[in-house]
Amino acid sequence: MFDLVIKNAKELKGPSFEIGIANGKISQIASKIIGETKETLTLASQQYLSAGWIDDHVHCFEEMTLYYDYPDKIGVEKGVTTVIDAGTTGAENIETFYSYAKQAKTNVYALLNISKWGIVTQDELADLSKVQEALVKQKINELPEFIVGIKARMSKTVVGKNGITPLDLAKKIQNENQHLPLMVHIGSAPPELADVLTRMEKGDVLTHCFNGKSNGILDSESNDIKEIAKEAFAKGIIFDIGHGTDSFNFHVAEVAQQANIKASSISTDIYIRNRENGPVYDLATTMEKLHVIGYSWEEIIEKVTKAPAENFHLANKGQLKEQFDADLTIFEFLEEPKVLTDSNGFTRTTNSQIKPVKTIIGGEIYDCQL
Ligand SMILES: [Zn+2]
Repeated sequence: MFDLVIKNAKELKGPSFEIGIANGKISQIASKIIGETKETLTLASQQYLSAGWIDDHVHCFEEMTLYYDYPDKIGVEKGVTTVIDAGTTGAENIETFYSYAKQAKTNVYALLNISKWGIVTQDELADLSKVQEALVKQKINELPEFIVGIKARMSKTVVGKNGITPLDLAKKIQNENQHLPLMVHIGSAPPELADVLTRMEKGDVLTHCFNGKSNGILDSESNDIKEIAKEAFAKGIIFDIGHGTDSFNFHVAEVAQQANIKASSISTDIYIRNRENGPVYDLATTMEKLHVIGYSWEEIIEKVTKAPAENFHLANKGQLKEQFDADLTIFEFLEEPKVLTDSNGFTRTTNSQIKPVKTIIGGEIYDCQL
């Protein structure tokens, strides 16, 4: 007995098929599902389906005032089945965040900020007494189902006079805690990009990878990607978009692409203000921005499903596979012009818009609200 059978399902390529869902899991994928079901969903001919979209850089703890949002506003309503909050909270307040996050329809995970109150103020790493290694370890051990990594924001306004030291602390914490995934945010210097990248290792996640700042990966004089960034990419540092209010620039992403550097994962750095007022709006809009500069839709879908699931070790997520979680996104395309704006006010016009229409989380169907 299935809870749900999806008929006329198709990915971007390949023939249509059917998916049988039971107990929140994908229990069967076949050209034709035989067996009883409580509910059937038949997709329209113009609709496609993928594993549920994952946004690995968001801010969704509603009790904060600087960067906050509501998981379902950026998740289930926008075709996103899973969000990873990127360091909004630290060891002192992550438990409260978890109590809210558990109530969301959207799957919510968190990267623990190494600073113990997270981003209450913009300069959470200016006072290193806020980095309490023992407390970090304790929370990681207490909330293993929620904390999937750690976060260190390495830019001038965040670190104050501490330069690169917070990153050394973050690497030490990572090494003492099962080498959990580490996400590092980059921005204005100090610290210098080179000092950040030389400390990062294969598998570490560099977010805001295509920001338009002078301390970013583009050397504006030569209009080429800095050698240090090419080396970082080659050694396996994961480039993550983390669009944000201030951190995605079309030109940087285009030059990177010419140098064969593409983001591994596409994420928004969304919170209420850049959702409501732009330039982020939602994950789909961010995906359109990578498409308009030349990424294929197939690779874009991979960068919001399989790639983030693997990068953050989310077991049973990110792929359409039997025994994986029944998290799915159903979407269609609208071939109409739309002006897309990056964080620096530059625009590109796309003729291919992607529209999530239904979100399925743990086998439950929800309509998207765009
Ligand atoms: Zn962020």
